[in-house]
Amino acid sequence: MAQHQFQTEVSRLLHLIIHSLYSNREIFLRELVSNASDALDKLKYLTVADDAYKSISFDPRIDIAFNKEGKTLTVTDNGIGMNEADLADSLGTIARSGTRNFLDKLAEDAKKNSSLIGQFGVGFYSAFMVADKIEVISRKAGEDAAWKWTSDGKDGFDIESAQRDSQGSTVILHLNEEGTEYANRWSIEDIIKRYSNHVAFPIFLTYDEKEYDNKGKEKGSKTKTERINSGTALWRRPKSELNEEDYNGFYKQMGHDTEDPLFYVHTKAEGTLEYSTLFYIPKKAPFDTYNVDYKPGVKLYVKRVFITDDDKELMPTWLRFVRGIIDSEDLPLNVSREILQQNKVLINIKNGSVKKLLGEFKTLSDNNKEKWETFITQYNRPLKEGLYQDFANREAILELVRFKSTAAEGWTSLADYVSRMKPDQKHIYYITGGDEKNLRASPLLEAYTAKGIEVLIMDDEIDDIVIPSVGRYKKPGAAEGESQEFELKAVNRAGADEELGEAKDKAAEKENKPVIEKIKKALGDRVKDVKLSRRLHDSPSCIVTDENDPTMQMAQMLKAMGQTEIPDIKPILELNGDHPIVAGLRDVQDEERIADVAAVLLDQALLVEGVKLKNPADFVKRLNRLLS
Ligand code: ADP
Repeated sequence: MAQHQFQTEVSRLLHLIIHSLYSNREIFLRELVSNASDALDKLKYLTVADDAYKSISFDPRIDIAFNKEGKTLTVTDNGIGMNEADLADSLGTIARSGTRNFLDKLAEDAKKNSSLIGQFGVGFYSAFMVADKIEVISRKAGEDAAWKWTSDGKDGFDIESAQRDSQGSTVILHLNEEGTEYANRWSIEDIIKRYSNHVAFPIFLTYDEKEYDNKGKEKGSKTKTERINSGTALWRRPKSELNEEDYNGFYKQMGHDTEDPLFYVHTKAEGTLEYSTLFYIPKKAPFDTYNVDYKPGVKLYVKRVFITDDDKELMPTWLRFVRGIIDSEDLPLNVSREILQQNKVLINIKNGSVKKLLGEFKTLSDNNKEKWETFITQYNRPLKEGLYQDFANREAILELVRFKSTAAEGWTSLADYVSRMKPDQKHIYYITGGDEKNLRASPLLEAYTAKGIEVLIMDDEIDDIVIPSVGRYKKPGAAEGESQEFELKAVNRAGADEELGEAKDKAAEKENKPVIEKIKKALGDRVKDVKLSRRLHDSPSCIVTDENDPTMQMAQMLKAMGQTEIPDIKPILELNGDHPIVAGLRDVQDEERIADVAAVLLDQALLVEGVKLKNPADFVKRLNRLLS
């Protein structure tokens, strides 16, 4: 028997694993099964690719057995196997590159992150969390000798010659006190279903089932062997082999939904990066879509082995409603969370997936009116978040978001808007703040309506933040020389009225100047300015916000959200010189009356925009005075 010392790193790793993963012990089984699956993959490949192995008849499988009384758990595969040198190398040293870094990182984070670390592969040694002795009996494919590796996981291991009928490995765990709970049919099944259900090879569990006579008395037991993984890895199968039912069934199982998904996107990427993705869009936005602490819906697999379902970095936040799977061929199993987030492979997969999803959303919007309606009703809001979160994809997202409009029922896209624009119209107009009903009734829209200019109704509270950040919309595929880039202009801001015609003629300006002055004086610092309006038809007054100020509604919203440091925003009051109330003031000299009318003109303009009055009693008092 040859005795060996562990490499220093191995001792460190063992120590760390045992002390940091105690709350995640069960992953040892995932690790052993993954190793077995790798061993099967390797042999499978050789039997196809290498003449020396072609004669091996080979029915790949993984077997798990346990003995409650003897406190053992065994994982067996008939894969590539290991010879004496392999055993010493693979199980006595750490050959993996990056392991040293991983170890350092692990040591740093061990205390605060113990539960997180458990989500990443730590390999064979994790079995020492549940065993105080491990034996590996192995025979390498194509060789006659078999070997037994034995270790207590403390400072070294022994290797001696052994017996094994055919190629493969048997890992025997002598369970410690914490490990005995795994010598149990149900916990093994549970762990395998959770982590290794989609391993490509069949995993069998052998267990004893008690037998009873017809009086219900125990008469012995019978040994049974049953397959416990489904092994479907649906996302790895060719699309042509799958039908809608397969996809939907799988979704309901993985997405814990009772309804079919709205649609799915299944992709296999080959080339520099190899990966498969299967994404689902639920019919209804997941209940936690608007929680900061939402649960991510995309799971990461590496070569069919489950790695994590708790990584928000797998998808951008604005696509948090997407459910599904990313399965990479190119990531190492033992990648840590920190490394994962900066991992180039994963970043590329993520970018590719976002592009793919955006393309599918566009196709849906072009080809399936009914599904698209459902989609946009559920997900318009997250898409809008994408407009300011995801600069690289802004143009594509801008084609997808929808708005309400003064010119059409239902949802309108920016492309629709542009196609309906008046020949000489320069900008895209929208109104924000308050609810749809208020917005549609706003006096700010009067002149636009009179001129037949369409205005988008933006009643979603995030519009006020998102849309100004977008700034412009460029029609895709516009012909050379065609001016197809449009500024988005809020009608409730100063400066959005330039297309409403020339300023009222000079005479009107002159005629109204004294009234404007009077009202301005009466309102004092309640307003930033008072102007003659180009946008009013029927109403006497309206308010707009200076181009660089936040709107009144936005300030109100921020206040409601508990923000205290909001500058006092002063509106600009615009007056309709043709309206009898305004015209009627021209000859009035009574200062109190002017003050009352001015205040009422301002307050009513604020009210229609859904702004709460600071002093409603004052408004009512003045109104009553005017009425009597
Ligand atoms: P990893 O699997 O990440 O490389 P492990 O510590 O789990 O790390 O395993 C170390 C090495 O031991 C593996 O790379 C493999 O070469 C070998 N090995 C482990 N289990 C088996 C097995 N069942 N059959 C063949 N080789 C194995």
